[in-house]
Amino acid sequence: NTRAFSVAYTKTRDSYGLRSPTMPMLSNPNKKRLTARFASSPASNKLPSTPLSRVPTAANELVEFINESWTSYHATATTSRMLAAAGFVQLSERDEWSIAPGGKYFFTRNMSSIVAFAVGEKYVPGNGIHIIGAHTDSPCPKLKPVSSIIKSGFLEVGVQTYGGGLWHTWFDRDLSVAGKVVLRRGIGGGQLSQELVQVDRPILRIPTLAIHLDRNVNTEGFRLNVESHLAPILATAIKGALGLGLAASCPSAHDEDPKSYEKGKKPAHHPLLLEILAEELDCDADEIVDFELEVCDVQPSVIGGAAHEFIYSGRLDNLASAFCALKALLEAGGDGSLDEESGVRMVAMFDNEEVGSGSAIGAGGTILADAITRIIRILCNNSHEEGIFERTMRNSFLVSADMAHALHPNYADKHEANHAPKIHAGLVVKQNANQRYATNAVTATLFRECGAKNDIPIQDFVVRNDMGCGSTIGPILSANLGIRTVDVGVPQLSMHSVREMCGTEDIDICYRHFKAFYENFATVSSEFTDIDF
Ligand code: ZN
Repeated sequence: NTRAFSVAYTKTRDSYGLRSPTMPMLSNPNKKRLTARFASSPASNKLPSTPLSRVPTAANELVEFINESWTSYHATATTSRMLAAAGFVQLSERDEWSIAPGGKYFFTRNMSSIVAFAVGEKYVPGNGIHIIGAHTDSPCPKLKPVSSIIKSGFLEVGVQTYGGGLWHTWFDRDLSVAGKVVLRRGIGGGQLSQELVQVDRPILRIPTLAIHLDRNVNTEGFRLNVESHLAPILATAIKGALGLGLAASCPSAHDEDPKSYEKGKKPAHHPLLLEILAEELDCDADEIVDFELEVCDVQPSVIGGAAHEFIYSGRLDNLASAFCALKALLEAGGDGSLDEESGVRMVAMFDNEEVGSGSAIGAGGTILADAITRIIRILCNNSHEEGIFERTMRNSFLVSADMAHALHPNYADKHEANHAPKIHAGLVVKQNANQRYATNAVTATLFRECGAKNDIPIQDFVVRNDMGCGSTIGPILSANLGIRTVDVGVPQLSMHSVREMCGTEDIDICYRHFKAFYENFATVSSEFTDIDF
């Protein structure tokens, strides 16, 4: 169901549209004096700012994509809409598939993972599948199954942490909720359905403790207990009750004991929250059966920096990779032309990467193997050709795309000098001798060569030996499928903060490299002699 989602999103756009580049600045009475004071500065001879019109199209489109994609569910819905608009046919894993060379298809699992693929006109069984993999999820607080908390006269929402977030960044942000709701619409028990919901206004906040009550916070660090300090405030108990006309049924709104709420019957979730969801979903609060809701930052993604060279945004990890892969798939070969393609082009976006991928919808599950097996069987007419799966896998290639750590100027010693990725300098090829990344010399070469044909820059990363290394879907898929894999990513700062940043040019570079991968991989691969894996 997209109705609730599209209604909700139209509102977001209106409320949080990008600030117009021509928006007049507030008049500054000191402006003349300031101009005179800095007139001799060499910098004033040439303004360093890039006109917004020169921000790469891919970067502007990414900003819009992220603003439509508050959760893994919404990212999947946004991707589905873009694919359908480009002529991709939606398949269901529950139904029989019919696919043919020249065709373009996609399917979703759990409404939060999505696989899209386009079969080349020149495909013959055994040819490779050229995959770019990414993930749809980001660290966030998620609502607990029983979320209603009443504490010190406040209504709070109980949350569990999802993934390795920088949780202190969620304090003092304007927050809301979005996700998937299970509904039973209709009085007397209608059918169960799953619908997306997004509340566009800031209804939640996690306030920091004033410095006067925490004098050593700047010297000793911000210490956070994720159980007791992270629950967002929804309302004061008294206003929350009044707003719903529940004052009579909530006689002790200031009571510390939640059991006293509603005459001793404690609801799983605050009725006020359910009312807000019901309003968004255009249903009755009683029709909400269950939900999976995430806490989301309502501040939209924007182009930032004095030279319009950055993107300030939540969820760059990993929607930036997901979007670039999607755009490359839609545009490779000239508007997605498959005339010259001999393989299968694929984008696979998984949920649950931030918690290790070990789920039915994660990269550690069966989703990709299931998809590839079905595609191969259909395309060779179920003829049981000897070794068809294995031959296909040996000819296939996975670009595992996940964000990388750019060099932070204030923490430069966290990188080793030879492997310190820079902003605007291209995709980062990630290597790790301990196989936290799946890249090897051959896969790095193949990927580099695809970009080199179009003069696309690239850089290298290994983590310092005295620091731990992150990981991603690359090693998991590579191990499970036996597929050649390169781990790459756009360099960014503030990874896993509620508000991250990256360079606009890197988004364009990433998109162009992914497009070059689809267009050039078959040729580059055929130039490689003596291939053993
Ligand atoms: Zn990631």
